[in-house]
Amino acid sequence: MRGMFCPECGGEYRPGFTVCADCNVALVSSLEEVQAARPVAELEELLATHDPEELGEIVGRLEEEEIPYVVHAGTALPLEDEKGELRRGRPEPWEARLLVHGPRLEEGEQLLAEVRAARPLPRG
Ligand SMILES: [Zn+2]
Repeated sequence: MRGMFCPECGGEYRPGFTVCADCNVALVSSLEEVQAARPVAELEELLATHDPEELGEIVGRLEEEEIPYVVHAGTALPLEDEKGELRRGRPEPWEARLLVHGPRLEEGEQLLAEVRAARPLPRG
């Protein structure tokens, strides 16, 4: 019989054990199972915008606060969606998606609220 593993510390236990004595979490039968269940990237979408100025301001704040981020921008963003398509194969309006390191999403949302509060209201 194969052993059991702790998904937290990776410790191996003899069959019959069900909980890691160190981490107090349930053991699993293979570590690959745990790795497969983990999300590929811990990125969360903070903002989707058509406004490059708004994007520039929030990115500036993220840099100041050292919050890790990724920007996807361009005129083919719908192709990044699972079933997205371009209308008639032509460029879509420019759009940007801003993603931040998942655990810091709340901080990012706060910065975004501050940036928006400081901006003039959009006209018309
Ligand atoms: Zn453990």
